[in-house]
Amino acid sequence: MNQTNASSNPKAGTTNAATAAVVATDTAISTKPDAGPRAPIRHLVLVLGDQLDISATALDGFDPVQDCIWMAEVAQESEHVWSAKQRTTVFLSAMRHFADALRAQGWPLHYVTLDAPDNSGTLAGELAKAIATYQPHTLVMTAPGDWRVLQDLRGAALAAQVPLDVRDDLHFFSTVRDFAAHAKGRKQLRLEYWYRELRQKTGILMDGKAPVGGQWNFDADNRASFGAKGPGAVPPPTRFAPDAITQEVIALVNTRFASHPGSVAEFGWPVTRAQALLSLHAFIQERLPYFGEHQDAMWEGDVWLYHSHLACAMNLKLLGAREVVAAAEAAYRAGAAPLPAVEGFIRQILGWREYVRGIYWTQMPEYEERNALGATADLPAFYWTGDTDMACLRDAIAQTLRHGYAHHIQRLMVTGLYALLFGVKPQQVHQWYLAVYVDAVEWVELPNTLGMSQFADGGVMASKPYAASGKYIQRMSNHCKGCRFDPALSVGEAACPFTTLYWDFLLRHETMLTANPRMGMQLKNLARLSPDQRGAIVAQATRHRETTAAVASAHPAGTP
Ligand SMILES: Cc1cc2nc3c(=O)[nH]c(=O)nc-3n(C[C@H](O)[C@H](O)[C@H](O)COP(=O)(O)OP(=O)(O)OC[C@H]3O[C@@H](n4cnc5c(N)ncnc54)[C@H](O)[C@@H]3O)c2cc1C
Ligand code: SF4
Repeated sequence: MNQTNASSNPKAGTTNAATAAVVATDTAISTKPDAGPRAPIRHLVLVLGDQLDISATALDGFDPVQDCIWMAEVAQESEHVWSAKQRTTVFLSAMRHFADALRAQGWPLHYVTLDAPDNSGTLAGELAKAIATYQPHTLVMTAPGDWRVLQDLRGAALAAQVPLDVRDDLHFFSTVRDFAAHAKGRKQLRLEYWYRELRQKTGILMDGKAPVGGQWNFDADNRASFGAKGPGAVPPPTRFAPDAITQEVIALVNTRFASHPGSVAEFGWPVTRAQALLSLHAFIQERLPYFGEHQDAMWEGDVWLYHSHLACAMNLKLLGAREVVAAAEAAYRAGAAPLPAVEGFIRQILGWREYVRGIYWTQMPEYEERNALGATADLPAFYWTGDTDMACLRDAIAQTLRHGYAHHIQRLMVTGLYALLFGVKPQQVHQWYLAVYVDAVEWVELPNTLGMSQFADGGVMASKPYAASGKYIQRMSNHCKGCRFDPALSVGEAACPFTTLYWDFLLRHETMLTANPRMGMQLKNLARLSPDQRGAIVAQATRHRETTAAVASAHPAGTP
């Protein structure tokens, strides 16, 4: 399918997304072998699995007579972390659909499939072979999302002595250079200042020089729970029945990565630009008006709530961040969505998404190794199965393995919080998040995990650790009602492990946290505990850790 045409008619060939949860598409698998121009060629243009946009900078000036596009499916990308089946499927299927869009354009493409007999299994290995075949004058690519991938491809280019032209990725509102300039001379890098700078630069949600509505931030309006009644009837998510290409990928993934986490039985993610646009339009019409208020709320068994589910399509570049933000702002300007909801949504993309990318590229590669809290525990094995008595964790992990999705607060304040309090090595937590979510790409996952959720960067991203007891989860969800633990208790049979580990966390890090003015209230409460209470909490936390760790050691974390 031609991507440009697809974007002008997003609803073509589908049923009504508002009423049908599953949208079918009918796409044939291309069986034609790929052929390119004869060596030596001018440009070999590298397109990675998260660069699936025909208007990407790498393709600027593409000449089908002298240039060829290179794409490769390699096992390394599913095995360097234990990539869940949903995640591998979404990447491979979207790549294959994009390859067909390039073929339809009549552009020469060298595409290596995962099951090609001579597939070397690595991007660098496949690139070296393609360089030998095409003898390009120059390699061209849009800046990749992962530091590791950039090093590998640079290494292959260097070994073959072919220049590599890395172009800016214009899918973002800012460049890494813009972020570095913003960061220069600042003692602290806080989202809010960067976000305001980008609002001013882009004019998004601005009335002249002032923020629309007279306020930069409607965060305080966006923290409500669903109350006792729950979320009510949430619109069904926009899901797509696997077409022939996706079915073929599902079969491949189920065979090749049979032992990898999760299931693809209910795969329904957008894998083409046309599908991604459908998802965007359905979100803007049906969910955006309610997005803000309940952004942080959770509800047992309710996977999708009022979130957009667009991170994956944006990270694969099936959607541009600019068009997503523009659609949300247009809904506000047309009176179709309230400002707190729209500002809350836009802040996630124009603010957080740009901010974490800047952090990643200005801090790597050392960033990945940070462990400011000196955490040493292994990741509990139940992260790979969901097999735990803790209802909140069970629910978040079960939906993660089933759909490759959990919303931000589930990631930050359930799975992330428990790992922080438990004291799991941040690198293992990072490997888990990078493996299990369909939207997981390192530039966005790593700062969120290591920085925001685990405080392993010592405060580069977050001004204080996101440490809370089970009472936070009780306030924001109904999980505790169906749990055998009690979030109010820190010791005893029914004590909630989050609450026990919360106090234990404060005790373990008391000296370091005292220097942080934002921890004042929490440390004041800690000071109220008697020596006996402290002793009982430490004993209970140690027991919990030992029993959980005993399971973990039988299932080495982070490896198949
Ligand atoms: C530990 C942890 C790991 C994470 N890993 C990833 C990841 O691998 N990939 C990823 O895209 N996001 C990640 N996030 C951020 C966020 O949780 C997801 O973007 C979001 O849950 C995706 O669901 P959605 O598309 O329904 O988002 P919505 O809630 O609808 O939000 C709208 C969009 O805003 C952007 N966004 C929201 N929060 C963030 C954030 N903190 N950082 C960057 N962008 C944000 C996303 O593009 C998202 O699609 C992580 C957060 C945490 C706490
Ligand atoms: S009681 Fe604790 S473990 Fe159980 S659901 Fe609540 S927060 Fe989670």
